[in-house]
Amino acid sequence: MSTIKHHLTDALLMGYSAGSLPEAFNLIVATHISVCDECRARMAEFDALGGEVMMCAETVEMDDRAFEKTLRSLMNESEDVAPAPTKRSVGVFPAPLRDYVGGDLDAVRWRKVGGGVRQMILKTDGEAKARLLYIPSGVAVPDHGHNGIELTLVLQGAFSDELDSFGVGDIEVTNEDIEHTPIAMGDMDCICLAVTDAPLRFAGLIPRLAQPFLRI
Ligand code: ZN
Ligand code: ZN
Repeated sequence: MSTIKHHLTDALLMGYSAGSLPEAFNLIVATHISVCDECRARMAEFDALGGEVMMCAETVEMDDRAFEKTLRSLMNESEDVAPAPTKRSVGVFPAPLRDYVGGDLDAVRWRKVGGGVRQMILKTDGEAKARLLYIPSGVAVPDHGHNGIELTLVLQGAFSDELDSFGVGDIEVTNEDIEHTPIAMGDMDCICLAVTDAPLRFAGLIPRLAQPFLRI
């Protein structure tokens, strides 16, 4: 049974299904749904819905097979609606992230960002940024706000902040209204995949001065 309690929003699932998300967001959505049966099932529904909308727009050229397929998907019996099987992952990174990084943890080239926290920026197209974060057990990421959406997916260990606690597979969705201080909890160091669509706003002066160098 899954222990994931924090999931993707409908807007993110729909955006992914429609192919309208920036690359960094696609990566984190694909990584979460590869380990989350619940979100993968919801994604399949959005995919089916998107297919129906497209088929309704093409009513003139609908052949028997397409018609049957539409009927089946409307009755929710289509094979297309069934969730894809989860790709098993042996390391810390789920398959989509491992493919992206080109390996597991041993392929990561960490850079120190202060206080024992390390990160690696992943190369993605567009304004949105994806990075891996390494937060030693008991250490806090500087208190910060957001200028846009920030998604944080836990890959190892756990963290807690003003909102809740997050374990492996959980995804935290924050926005410009939320200021928080994530702290790695438990015995294990916490490793996360974090995606932002705008630079963060740090509350303290020193992290703010360092921000251009951290590229976050
Ligand atoms: Zn989920
Ligand atoms: Zn944040």
